[in-house]
Amino acid sequence: MTGPSGGAIAAAQARSADPAAYAIGGTAPRQAVRAASADEVAETLRAAARDGLAVVPWGAGVALAQETPPPCYDLALDLTALDRVIEYDPEDFTVTVECGVTIATLRATLTARGQELPLEAAHASRATVGGLLAADASGPRRLRFGAPHDRILGAHLVLADGTRARSGGKVVKNVAGYGTHRLLCGSRGGLAVIVAASLKIAPAPGARVALCYGADAAALADAARWRIFPRLEPAWLTVVERSLATAPALGTDAPFTVVVGLEDEPAWVQAQESATTSALGAPAARLAGEAAAALVQTLADLEETEGPRLSFTTTANTPAALATWLARPAAGPFVFHAPAGRLHLFPRAEEASSAAEAAAECGLTLIGARGPAGRPPGPASLGGLLALRARLRAGLDPAGTLALGEAWAAGLR
Ligand SMILES: Cc1cc2nc3c(=O)[nH]c(=O)nc-3n(C[C@H](O)[C@H](O)[C@H](O)COP(=O)(O)OP(=O)(O)OC[C@H]3O[C@@H](n4cnc5c(N)ncnc54)[C@H](O)[C@@H]3O)c2cc1C
Repeated sequence: MTGPSGGAIAAAQARSADPAAYAIGGTAPRQAVRAASADEVAETLRAAARDGLAVVPWGAGVALAQETPPPCYDLALDLTALDRVIEYDPEDFTVTVECGVTIATLRATLTARGQELPLEAAHASRATVGGLLAADASGPRRLRFGAPHDRILGAHLVLADGTRARSGGKVVKNVAGYGTHRLLCGSRGGLAVIVAASLKIAPAPGARVALCYGADAAALADAARWRIFPRLEPAWLTVVERSLATAPALGTDAPFTVVVGLEDEPAWVQAQESATTSALGAPAARLAGEAAAALVQTLADLEETEGPRLSFTTTANTPAALATWLARPAAGPFVFHAPAGRLHLFPRAEEASSAAEAAAECGLTLIGARGPAGRPPGPASLGGLLALRARLRAGLDPAGTLALGEAWAAGLR
């Protein structure tokens, strides 16, 4: 391996950036390059592969900054300058964007035509489409609208050796071979760089309402109270622990706030709201339209609360899923997206391991850990999948240039 003055830097010297701004979990790379085009991405990766440098593709760093650093980290490849909306076809409900476009920019573009990409990312004003896809990130509305891998139609890629490739297409109906673009969703920059992607978008809902209810542990545990869900079909149903409930609408003075989100045709939303208030009573707060949309973003932001994070999944999908766990001593601030059974807990560093054990004893399966609790391997049932991942990595990045590919192939989260 050559040193920091190797070919990668020479290839894009004019684009070099301050490595200190690209630290992963406190570890900065030796070099950083801000690519301004797909050609520069390819050129940088080609040079890095030749020089044996370990590269991490970098969106806005919303997630990366707090993650576990890879064993080798030579070069951060900043993709935020690739920020063009390439093609938007509202009639066809498709859009093609470069990877550095922020979620907020994309949202504004689509909103102007009464459309939306029904995916969330924490800190949407900074988070990039490339980072969202690579993380396969989704938030409160995942069960209703799916994950990024359900929305991607095709992508332009740069492989670890600098080869440019294309997968899928830019229209909804497509018969274009293997869905490598879908496979890259969730690969966290460990298999290839997504330089542009085509996405399937949706009409914005005619009405959107959020109903906020205060609840104590007994109310959360009352299964009968929540039986109306999922027969009613909330777009989101999220429980927020009080210390995270800093947004005014979430501040109910109760230990927990339960947010019921409804969106669809106005008549349907009205009927669902009536059914919800008949069952649960009048909410402490009711938000509609843009205020409700802003609340969805607030809930998504909570997932990137600073510090250690433990993510769990459960097959139960109402607030009562937390009953056994909440009966134990408090484990820390949390947000729970009930329909997708996804719990994010933010314990103190010294309590992370015991919190993970306690949750496991209550039937919650640990699927992700950031910080001192370590990085859990994927469930043992993923054995076959892990073998496939190893083969994919060997095929797409045989030299191991993309530094995060090793953890991805090992199923570490
Ligand atoms: C381990 C992990 C867990 C997460 N958990 C959640 C969660 O539970 N809920 C949620 O809503 N969001 C989650 N996210 C997503 C996160 O909150 C951000 O929304 C997302 O990462 C986008 O932010 P960003 O653009 O700053 O990406 P970054 O933080 O810069 O990058 C995120 C990941 O994507 C890779 N990457 C970035 N751009 C590209 C590209 N163009 N091509 C290939 N790879 C790229 C990076 O190498 C990195 O691995 C998670 C992300 C990670 C990495």
